[in-house]
Amino acid sequence: MTENSFSSAAMASFGQLGLPTNLLAMLADVGYETPSPIQAACIPHLLAGRDLLGEAQTGTGKTAAFALPVLARLDLSSARPQALVLTPTRELALQVSEAFTKYARHLQNFHVLPVYGGQSMVVQLRQLARGAQVIVGTPGRIMDHLERGSLKLDALSMLVLDEADEMLRMGFIEDVEWILEHTPPTRQTALFSATMPTAIRAVAQRHLRKPEEVRIRAATSTVEKIRQRYWLVRGVDKLDALTRILDAEEKLDAAIVFVRTKIGTEGLADKLAARGYAAAALNGDMTQGLRERVIEQLKNGSLDIVIATDVAARGIDVPRISHVINYDIPYDTEAYVHRIGRTGRAGREGVAVLFVAPRERRMLKSIEHATRQPIEPIALPSREDVSSLRISQFKQKVLDTLADQDMVLGFFMNVVEEIVEENELSSREVAAALAYLVQTGRPLQIEEEEGRGWEQATALHPQGKPLREEIFTTGAAHARGTRREAREAIPAKVFAGGKMQRYRIAVGRDHGVTPKEIVGAIANEGGIEGRHIGQIDLFNEFSTVELPAQLPAGLLAALGHIVVRNRSLDVRPVGENEALPVRRPRSTANIVDPYRDGKPYKSSAKPWEKQTQSKRPGREQWGGRDAGSHPPRKNGSQDGRPFRGKSRPR
Ligand code: AMP
Repeated sequence: MTENSFSSAAMASFGQLGLPTNLLAMLADVGYETPSPIQAACIPHLLAGRDLLGEAQTGTGKTAAFALPVLARLDLSSARPQALVLTPTRELALQVSEAFTKYARHLQNFHVLPVYGGQSMVVQLRQLARGAQVIVGTPGRIMDHLERGSLKLDALSMLVLDEADEMLRMGFIEDVEWILEHTPPTRQTALFSATMPTAIRAVAQRHLRKPEEVRIRAATSTVEKIRQRYWLVRGVDKLDALTRILDAEEKLDAAIVFVRTKIGTEGLADKLAARGYAAAALNGDMTQGLRERVIEQLKNGSLDIVIATDVAARGIDVPRISHVINYDIPYDTEAYVHRIGRTGRAGREGVAVLFVAPRERRMLKSIEHATRQPIEPIALPSREDVSSLRISQFKQKVLDTLADQDMVLGFFMNVVEEIVEENELSSREVAAALAYLVQTGRPLQIEEEEGRGWEQATALHPQGKPLREEIFTTGAAHARGTRREAREAIPAKVFAGGKMQRYRIAVGRDHGVTPKEIVGAIANEGGIEGRHIGQIDLFNEFSTVELPAQLPAGLLAALGHIVVRNRSLDVRPVGENEALPVRRPRSTANIVDPYRDGKPYKSSAKPWEKQTQSKRPGREQWGGRDAGSHPPRKNGSQDGRPFRGKSRPR
């Protein structure tokens, strides 16, 4: 085995890794600025067809490290399986498939299929028969299909074992080896594992050919002057958590907040600015001049918070940075050490806060190990704490203004007196109105919803309820990266009036789409509640869907970027005089609104739908691409090609 450890200090650009231009364009679209270290190290080897043994855990960007080379090397003129990714769990299989779909958004005729236990066999058989270049599955179910002959791997050229140590821990390793033995020996193999126990090395020795070995160098560094803490992302969304921390942290002078993407820096800076923080983005898309200006403003105090990507923040030396917030976890320990080194400068003390999602806990352990320092958990200040803090700061500001000798308030006193006299009001009432007016950006009374952010925009509330409409709508655009448009949040009246309009979307029956997938994608990814999605009609090459009339341009653009069946929806209103082919039967009959306790979508529900009414569909059932979740049909077709037979519902 050849070894190839790497350091994040020497980051290449995606362009230098040898990826084809269509993938580079996609990466620019999704806002990835530079490859993560694991990507920089793996992509060239995988593109060159070499086997690879990668020591990497979740959060390092390993999915793209194998997905991008796989996509670059597929022959899309054939629908036969050419790449197989084995994952230990169904969740990971779905996650990896979603990543493939995201990265393949510019590729025509690309299909990825998640295949896992627990999903209907009938559905899987049909999907497999239809063909997909990439299969992502759990070992047991893949074995089943290989044994039945429903999955043929004779054209397989790439095989990825993801989270191999987890597969070992869960007792799948024999199945994995069996699968390896039933694939062409000429295939390229990549094995990723967070740890490298002997049993995994043995698998690598048996099944990989002269693999390149890639792992994160465990750098240890002293960060004594920096107090490190972490918050486990749970319950409260990240934006809310961030604002609470920014409000409640003692001794916070200036902060750098690290996120992973350029789009992320802008989205978050906008959100913070809208909440009254002096915040700005700093990313590699900005000109050198603009970047310097942001840093200068941070130095002179006209900005307090900078939202940055790793690359853009490298080398920043601003002594007043008291806090580094790792809003998105770094790819590796070295990046973490680089990040937190932005604070604790010039002999001062610094504070680093790390947001850790439950599945990223392993990275937390690695960081503790690398920095040889425990990282303490923090409890978020409650809304009440933040509220009382804001109130005391506000009071202090009022007193400071009154105490300021240079401040001549006579003019303003006269204005207040005029208001009092002209309207027979008390000074108390007028003062209260003025206090209300000055606090609107950062309210003194924090309401339940403040802080729900774009990053959770398409997530469901834990109880399965949707978040507020306007959040969903701005969120949709942010999630798709159309920041400017996102500012045009849907005016409440758009929904309030209940007026609907037909929109045309660029995916139709010929692409194998189902109404359910369309609803799922628009609801889950577009953030529009199911009850605002009306009738859907499928035509051969496109479909129409009823949505609230006069959707703002920003939201339309965001919806247009949603990908269903590998096609962007390209939503546009149907013109009044536009001639459409004769309408097909009402296709909404089989739709159940996930947000309405499973009640049928239209009153025209058919008896067979009753099966779905008793059960509230889970979120993934509505995921646009999880074709395994169609409601059962009376007469056969569960294959996502509705209404072809005589039995089509009317
Ligand atoms: P993974 O380790 O594959 O689970 O990826 C973790 C997260 O990092 C995912 O949300 C990816 O979308 C994101 N990600 C992966 N590569 C990059 C990159 N080069 N730049 C920014 N974000 C990335």
